[in-house]
Amino acid sequence: MPTPSDFNHFLPALTSPEIRDLPDKDHVVVVQPLAAIEQHGPHLPVYTDSLIAEAVLTEALKRLPAGFPVWRLPLLSYGKSTEHLAFAGTLSLSADTLIQTLKEIGHSLAGSGFRRMVILNAHGGNTEIVDFVIRDIRAETGLMVFALHPYLRVAPIKEGISEQEAIYGIHAGDIETSILLAIRPDWVRFDLAPRSFPAALQAMRHPPFMGPLTFAWLTQDIAPDGVLGDATLATAEKGQAFLAQAADQVAELLQDIRDFKFSPHAS
Ligand SMILES: [Zn+2]
Repeated sequence: MPTPSDFNHFLPALTSPEIRDLPDKDHVVVVQPLAAIEQHGPHLPVYTDSLIAEAVLTEALKRLPAGFPVWRLPLLSYGKSTEHLAFAGTLSLSADTLIQTLKEIGHSLAGSGFRRMVILNAHGGNTEIVDFVIRDIRAETGLMVFALHPYLRVAPIKEGISEQEAIYGIHAGDIETSILLAIRPDWVRFDLAPRSFPAALQAMRHPPFMGPLTFAWLTQDIAPDGVLGDATLATAEKGQAFLAQAADQVAELLQDIRDFKFSPHAS
């Protein structure tokens, strides 16, 4: 019987009978990485979120004990990037298409005999959809479904960045540029890295990216160059640390997900 490490945890490397007959399927965890293809300023590729999703998952899997029953699906690169559609190179799905795609993957996993599905999301614009669709998949299929949002909710970065970056540096700033310098430096145009914080938002008493106030923004409303954050401060060393921090937490959470059970009478 194939073990996950024989195939780098890549589920589609198995044959159909092997997938049908995987042992202890109640505890096998299947991860669907999800990202985006969208503008990331003048200095980062539109594939940035996709590279980050793959890197976090790959690093997290390396941290798990040998034989840990987790399998990954191919990256779903396309996400919902409505906020970036005014910029060339952004390739976005509609909310309806993304919802339907995730649901149909869930239904197919249930039909293949799996019980535990995880969506590992690396793009902020997908967050709301992922969080509600996992409940719908549970209701429709009986699967246990989990969402991981590294850098969005899991392991929010605080150390190593400025206070201003922690509040406003949500796109193509210090964090994402540092991670790209660590994992794909040949794709970073660091000589073009900008420093860009939205003046209008900083005048508000409560930062609108967290807390009780949210608002509908399109990137061009608040960041004409497509960047929110200070990319000039990025370094590969910081990127390695940010990646390790997220991978550590994702690895721990995958272990919780494998062991999780609903126990209505737990004391
Ligand atoms: Zn991004």
